[in-house]
Amino acid sequence: MNSLNDLVLPSGKMLVGGDWRDALSGETIPVENPANGEIFAQLAAGGAEDIDLAVKAARAAFESPGWSKMRPIDRSRLLEQVALKLEAHAEELALIDSFDNGKPKHLAMMVDVPSAVEVFRYMAGWCTKIYGKTLSVSGDGRQYHAYTLRQPVGVVGQIVPWNYPLPMAAWKVASALAAGCTVVLKPSEVASLSTLRMAELILEAGVPPGVVNVVTGYGETVGEALITHPDIDKIAFTGSTNVGKHILRSSANDLRRVSLELGGKSPTIIMPDADLEKAIPDAAMAIFFNSGQTCFAGSRLLCHESIYDTVIAGINEVAKNLPIGPGQDPATMIGPVVNKKQRDRIQSYIEIGRQEGAEVISPNVPLPEQGYYVRPTILSGVTAESRVFNEEIFGPVLAATKFSTEEEAIKLANSSCYGLGANLYCKDMKTSHRMAAALQAGTVWINTYFVVDAAMPFGGFKESGIGREVGDEGVLMYTESKSVCALLDD
Ligand code: NAD
Repeated sequence: MNSLNDLVLPSGKMLVGGDWRDALSGETIPVENPANGEIFAQLAAGGAEDIDLAVKAARAAFESPGWSKMRPIDRSRLLEQVALKLEAHAEELALIDSFDNGKPKHLAMMVDVPSAVEVFRYMAGWCTKIYGKTLSVSGDGRQYHAYTLRQPVGVVGQIVPWNYPLPMAAWKVASALAAGCTVVLKPSEVASLSTLRMAELILEAGVPPGVVNVVTGYGETVGEALITHPDIDKIAFTGSTNVGKHILRSSANDLRRVSLELGGKSPTIIMPDADLEKAIPDAAMAIFFNSGQTCFAGSRLLCHESIYDTVIAGINEVAKNLPIGPGQDPATMIGPVVNKKQRDRIQSYIEIGRQEGAEVISPNVPLPEQGYYVRPTILSGVTAESRVFNEEIFGPVLAATKFSTEEEAIKLANSSCYGLGANLYCKDMKTSHRMAAALQAGTVWINTYFVVDAAMPFGGFKESGIGREVGDEGVLMYTESKSVCALLDD
């Protein structure tokens, strides 16, 4: 399975209340293959009326006994069925994303699809483990029986980006369903196809109609209609910090629940005692994997001055040996970036780095003639004040600088407005854990990187977001806690 002919692409329709339908406007959005610019599919261009229908369907499903009274163990079985379906269609899902997003199919099969499968499997276990507590209230001396209930928050609007389309959608849907919510999901207009295929498989797995609705379209229309719809109880958003701030502001009117997974500028910190055989290839892949389009990419390199030159030369050597090409080629390690807009944006940042005085280091390898490719690039010797050290580039571009002490490394790492992840390479365990505690990041990886697990809450400090996805915190954020207090005395 490696060509478009091997795929039955999603139909260009949206899923509302269990039915596949065109946008009410009848309009569509062309889907482009970033490896050659060809249009190979169409998406329904939804609007506010489509969102309204989807929210009504999600509300009806939330209130229907078929969902709200379903035994937790049966909900668990359904989520496991979804995991099995996704697993059975792993290659197809990876191939769809290789055409839609540009990512190498073999890497999507190693990372994206397992992440989607595992979150459904993990969340299947949570359905039967959501519970409150009994409380020892002192009150006024009379006897009380007090306890908390954990109840689903209701109908959730979920919005996801294009960089890991399948796992981002799966994380959100699996967590919400485990808590007993229903959802209206808006994938990115830039890469919606694997999410639509996942939705088909969710229905096939037996999830009742209306529990999961998918409305495709642009952020300014469909997204805006979703975040402002009066019957949405919570918005769960993954995307850029600017849109996240806009969503938070728009939620202020009715204090609607909001969780935000936003941008990052995560540091890879290499201490003088680090195992460079491991740290160098890891630091390279922490930024170059997925062509740098990873929210927690190690996009800033903070390297001890004593090893800086060795590390930069080593990362460039890794970069030289990363085959660049279309996502269907099993040799490809660097696919095209997602579209022309992103390619131009990344290239303009490389130019900004040059103007800011960085040394631009990039392997002199040829790029495919067609498609939106960017060579893996190091901007060496950047200053802490430079734009390329502070702004999210979202491409295979590493901003590198050196430090001389542990304190300086922490200060540089924490100088960012973001706080999503941090990769730390250090042999000394006392130093590692001291630094892990001091780093302002939602996840700190020590002598490893990119380990993202359904059991490990994921999210950001500062402008990288609010709330945590997956793990126990990820499922509980789709619940409300209610205290119940009953008087036992007459
Ligand atoms: P984006 O913010 O442009 O779009 C994300 C989603 O929001 C899309 O579905 C888009 O259509 C929608 N949207 C846009 N405007 C909207 C509006 N006014 N109202 C409602 N929805 C709207 O981000 P992107 O370019 O798709 O993705 C890249 C960004 O996502 C990067 O900043 C990256 O760091 C971030 N990201 C974060 C995480 C995380 O877990 N923290 C994961 C992946 C990506």
